[in-house]
Amino acid sequence: MLLIYCPHCGEHRDEEEFHSKGQAHIARPLDPDNCTDKEWGEYLFFRKNPRGLHHELWIHATGCRKFFNVTRDTVSYEIKEVYKIGERPSVVATAS
Ligand SMILES: [Zn+2]
Repeated sequence: MLLIYCPHCGEHRDEEEFHSKGQAHIARPLDPDNCTDKEWGEYLFFRKNPRGLHHELWIHATGCRKFFNVTRDTVSYEIKEVYKIGERPSVVATAS
């Protein structure tokens, strides 16, 4: 059983309470009305699928229902850190 720390609840909870929502730190285009279809499509649909350390957005779906970020090794599944939205990660992602 994998335990994941929720920074909002302040405790480790079972992984089944959480859902990964994919890549973190995706910047919304500043002026969506003036994006090309290619730029808007890349923002909506294209994500990295890295091997190594990666920043991901997660939600504590059956707990507090709040979002937070995780730095996780996609090879070993080891979670290196969790941090709230708006905070900066202390572990640098190595995956590209
Ligand atoms: Zn929580």
